[in-house]
Amino acid sequence: MGKEEIYDVIVIGAGPAGMSAALYASRANLKTLIIEGGLPGGQMNNTDRLDNYLGFPEADASTLAEEMYKQALSFGAKEVVEFVRSVEEFTLTEGKHFKVSTKRNKYVSRTVILATGTQYKTLDVPGEDALVSKGISYCAVCDAPFYKGKNVAVIGGGDSALEEADYISQFAEQVVIFHRRKDYRAKPSIQERVLNNPKIISVMNTIAREFKGKDKLDSIRIHDRTMGKERDFMFDGAFIYIGNVPQTDIVKGFDILTDEGYIDFVVPDTMMTRVDGLFAVGDILDKHIRQVAKAVGEGAVAGQSAFYYLKQKDSNKQEEKKAGSNYV
Ligand code: NAP
Repeated sequence: MGKEEIYDVIVIGAGPAGMSAALYASRANLKTLIIEGGLPGGQMNNTDRLDNYLGFPEADASTLAEEMYKQALSFGAKEVVEFVRSVEEFTLTEGKHFKVSTKRNKYVSRTVILATGTQYKTLDVPGEDALVSKGISYCAVCDAPFYKGKNVAVIGGGDSALEEADYISQFAEQVVIFHRRKDYRAKPSIQERVLNNPKIISVMNTIAREFKGKDKLDSIRIHDRTMGKERDFMFDGAFIYIGNVPQTDIVKGFDILTDEGYIDFVVPDTMMTRVDGLFAVGDILDKHIRQVAKAVGEGAVAGQSAFYYLKQKDSNKQEEKKAGSNYV
């Protein structure tokens, strides 16, 4: 490799976890680079309001994400907008480093904080792919305003499906939630909101089998598990909220992933993975609790831990040097 600039910390991903990590690392005077392929804020950009981020009782999610980003960069962290393709380890004379490659560039760092988050899951049924942006969407904040006075379906039964159904109901005439089981997975408070919303109908024990329409969505083939029957229902739009998959392909070479692609282990006190100098935070850790508050906390721990880790490395090096010179 040539004479690249060497960072102390590269943070990959600018969701709440990555932004918090970058804030703590740069505030500790570490030379910090944050690499993000899309909009800062991650999953915060796919929701309207947050009512469970302490101190901001009615937060507008994208405004909060913007403020977080400004603050994350305010202590001198550098940012680039690029998609990372791989993270690898290699050795320089100064010791072990990481090479972070994008399509156009290679960046070198002493530590990496992985905060790549998750991507929405697709149903993988006929018609879904072809009708994306022609009636099918995975982002209510982005697309719900297009369905003013229309008939909209939401597929899923978790927090996201129910919260977004509630959001869509501000615009749509009617929202029908199709869920594959007889009980919702969503938190009781969110279920209650949906139950009390006269524009939302819940249809349980149902599976979306096919999306139909030529240039735009016309109908959805629904399998009723209770009756054992299938029927087509007319809809103008369908929002799919059936969970997420972790975006961890870039560290596949490290043997630190579970079968489902989540990071298999981090030291709780430091957020370091089983690879020395490689930290992981946010939604790539856990498929059960995905909260902005948790992500921000983990980012803070990782950013600060990177500081202690590098300080320890430097002091070890000094000790080695001293010990070496004693024998001369
Ligand atoms: P989730 O909790 O994993 O829920 C996914 C839902 O989709 C489940 O109801 C699941 O059904 C259903 N599903 C999965 N695969 C399906 C398929 N192939 N066909 C039909 N239905 C399918 O995902 P999420 O709602 O996106 O939430 C992700 C995380 O973010 C959770 O930890 C959640 O608490 C958090 N979150 C929190 C808030 C908040 O606190 N305000 C808001 C949004 C999200 P089953 O129930 O049958 O498995």
